[in-house]
Amino acid sequence: MNDKPIYVTRPHLPPLEEFIPYLEQIWSNQILTNGGPFHQQLEAALCEYLGVKHISLFTNATIGLVTALQALRVSGEVITTPYSFVATSHALAWNGLTPVFVDIDPESMNIDPARIEAAITPRTTAILPVHCYGRPCDVDAIERIAEHFNLKVIYDAAHAFGVQSREGHSVLQHGDLSVLSFHATKVFNTFEGGAIVSPDLKTKQHIDRLKNFGYVDELTVAAPGINGKMSEVNAAFGLLQLRHLNEALLQRAALSQRYCERLADVSGIRIVDTAKAAKPNHAYFPILVEKEYPLERDELYAQLKAAGIHARRYFYPLITDFPMYRGLPSANSDNLPVANRLARQVICLPLYPTLQPSEVDRVADLIRQKGLLR
Ligand SMILES: *Cc1c(COP(=O)(O)O)cnc(C)c1O
Repeated sequence: MNDKPIYVTRPHLPPLEEFIPYLEQIWSNQILTNGGPFHQQLEAALCEYLGVKHISLFTNATIGLVTALQALRVSGEVITTPYSFVATSHALAWNGLTPVFVDIDPESMNIDPARIEAAITPRTTAILPVHCYGRPCDVDAIERIAEHFNLKVIYDAAHAFGVQSREGHSVLQHGDLSVLSFHATKVFNTFEGGAIVSPDLKTKQHIDRLKNFGYVDELTVAAPGINGKMSEVNAAFGLLQLRHLNEALLQRAALSQRYCERLADVSGIRIVDTAKAAKPNHAYFPILVEKEYPLERDELYAQLKAAGIHARRYFYPLITDFPMYRGLPSANSDNLPVANRLARQVICLPLYPTLQPSEVDRVADLIRQKGLLR
C-alpha cells in the first residue's frame, strides 16, 4: 500500500510568512497576554463575522464550558446529551454537577426536546445541549421548555462556528450562553482556543473577570475565578485564520458535495445531512452504516484503516459508556436507545480544506466497492 494515509482531519494553516508580521508586532510591543491588542481585535472581528454582540475568548472550550456553568451559578442536575465529545459532561463534573442524560433525536442527532421534560427534577437547573456536527438544535423547543421550567441553557457550540439557523441568524444567539471551540481540529482554529458568546455586556464582563482569576481591578477579586485567558499568539493566529476562512469553508462544502454524489446510491450508507442549516459549516462528514450495507460499521472502519484511511467513529463510545458516567441512572442504555444505535452506526469520513478531490474519491470508492448499489 503506497497510497499516503488520509486522516479524518488536518489543521488549517495559512502560509507561515503571513504569520511572521503578527509575531514581530508581539515581540515589539511585548504584550503576550491579559487582553492585549490582538485579543481585543479578535473579539471584535469574531463578533462581526459571527453576527453576535459579545464574545469572550478562552484558552479552550472546556475551560469555557466550566466557566459558563460558574457564571450562571448552575447547581444540582443538568440535562445533557450522551452523543458528544466527553468534555461536554466533564465540564459538569468539574463543577460538581450531575449530568442527566436524555436521548437524541434520530434525525437531528441532537438532544430530543420531547424527552427533556421527563428528565426534569426539583434539582434541575440547566440544559447543556450540543449542536452536534454543527447542525443546529431545535432551539425554539428547548427555549420553550427552559422558560417554562425556569432553566438556564448553555449550548456546547464547539462544532457550530459560523452556522446560521433557518431564520438566517447565528445559531450562537440562542440560549443564555454558547461556547465555541477553536481547537486545532475544528473549522476555525487558534491552535488551542475557545470562546463564550454572551447576550449582554454585563454577562460578558462577569465572564471576563471569571477567566482572569476573578479580578475586577488591581485590588479587587470578586469571585473564585480561573485562568482561561487566550494568549496574544493564539489571538493573532485567529485574526490571520479568519482572513482565510471563507475559502476554507467553500473547499469543505465542495468536498462534502463530492462525497454526497459518490455515496448517494450505496445501499445501507445513510449520509447525515450536514447542509441543512441556512449556512452550514461542513465541519464533519458523518455517515451511518445501516443494516443493508454488507459490512458492519466496525468492519468498514477497519477496512478503511487497512487502506490508510483514518476515519473516526464520532461519537462512539458514548459519554455514558465511560466509567465516570456509566453508573448514573440516566446513563442506562434502555434510557438512550437512539444514541446507542447511532453510536454503533456512525463513521466520520476525512474532511478538511486541503483534502484532494481524488482522496475523496479514494474513500468513497472503497465504500462503494464493499457495498451494493441501489
Ligand atoms: C472539541 C469539543 C470540545 C472541547 O473543545 P476544546 O477546545 O478542545 O476544549 C467540547 N465539546 C465538543 C462537542 C467538542 O467537539
